[in-house]
Amino acid sequence: MKNSELIARDLSVLWHPCTQMKDHEFLPLIPIRRAEGVWLEDFEGRRYIDAISSWWVNLFGHANPRINAAIREQLGELEHTILAGFSHEPVVALSERLVALTPKGLSRCFYADNGSSAVEIALKMSFHYWRNSGKSKKTKFISLENSYHGETLGALAVGNIPLYKETYGPLLMETITATSPDCFFREQGESWAEYSRRSFKSMKTLLDQHADDVCAVIIEPLVQCAGKMRMYDPVYLTLLREACDRHHVHLIADEIAVGFGRTGTLFACEHAGITPDFMCLSKGLTGGYLPLSVTLTTDAVYEAFYDDFERSTAFLHSHSYTGNPLGCRAALATLDIFEQEPVLENNLQLAKAMRDATARFEDHPHVAEVRQHGMILAIEMVENKPARLAYPWQERRGLRVYQYALEKGVLLRPLGDVIYLMPPYVITPEEIRTIAAIAYEGIDIATRQ
Ligand SMILES: *Cc1c(COP(=O)(O)O)cnc(C)c1O
Repeated sequence: MKNSELIARDLSVLWHPCTQMKDHEFLPLIPIRRAEGVWLEDFEGRRYIDAISSWWVNLFGHANPRINAAIREQLGELEHTILAGFSHEPVVALSERLVALTPKGLSRCFYADNGSSAVEIALKMSFHYWRNSGKSKKTKFISLENSYHGETLGALAVGNIPLYKETYGPLLMETITATSPDCFFREQGESWAEYSRRSFKSMKTLLDQHADDVCAVIIEPLVQCAGKMRMYDPVYLTLLREACDRHHVHLIADEIAVGFGRTGTLFACEHAGITPDFMCLSKGLTGGYLPLSVTLTTDAVYEAFYDDFERSTAFLHSHSYTGNPLGCRAALATLDIFEQEPVLENNLQLAKAMRDATARFEDHPHVAEVRQHGMILAIEMVENKPARLAYPWQERRGLRVYQYALEKGVLLRPLGDVIYLMPPYVITPEEIRTIAAIAYEGIDIATRQ
């Protein structure tokens, strides 16, 4: 089969995610036939480096032999079963390991099959905890400017990116928005820590005013990924944990994108040594293989639901594929790799290779900033560098970088005018240099005239 055949068939029956379908009148779809390691291959043998881990999910490469083998083995035993009233070994083993690996105090695992659902679960559980505890006045959530927590209505409501949210405004619950610690806005000479600390004032004021009505604060620790990879300092997490404790407000850490080593530590909360009341995980959880997510919480939360049935305090939430055994086995194989290989140590070298390969970008006349937290590195293109003024969004400069990189065999998928590298951990320094060189040329071309 040729690329063109599959494209024609696709465009006659599919509606693609996060896409203006009319774009495909000029923007070719890329049909992928197979993939291995960091390489994707189309039907005519053209290869692309997956520099964005297939939307941030892949950790140890495509067709990873160990994860493949684990799923095959599981397939021979049990593909799926109901998890209400029933159990199976993969979900028990995975829960034991997640409780052991996540920050101390997180002791219960509740499963779903995508990140947005994990966020919905955290929001509902927090609200329901306060209700079960006789605090039914607590109904609100505080989240950060420029945050992203998923696309379902509750998750969208606590998000704050107008591009995704604005249209659906009338459908969404009201939330309280605090200033983001986003260090792109720091003053010249100001450190990340200073700026993040300064921006905490807004959160402090909101908590002082609203704590009695607020269930939880929800944040993406250290990197607002969908919010154009904007970053902040761990001190913000420390301050937030203290303030939430003081005000009897839960802290929900959405580590769906930053979990599993992306920021250098296994979980981003570790940079501040904090334990959230809820931690949401998905994306890398299965190594990028299967849809699975989990919301972890504490004994204190769990116990507020534990009572005689007639007292109606149970968390009656479920999804059909909750705790799917194949997904759990893929996750266990992924955790085996973390346990048996020096992944985080190797990532230090890869993160350095990313930094070195993009060092010269800072001098480009249309690059405002190169920022990095571990295995996430972002390059912000602007029209006016001294004023840090963005290009009009209608010009779609980032899309030009996307198109150029594809021509050269690299999958980059800029967020607006922000080009980022978030590769699988099996990438080589050589491949990182290839991506960086092509990204640089792409930026050069996209910013001409
Ligand atoms: C991707 C993402 C989600 C949503 O996960 P889905 O599986 O796409 O529903 C939520 N929060 C963050 C931080 C994410 O990056």
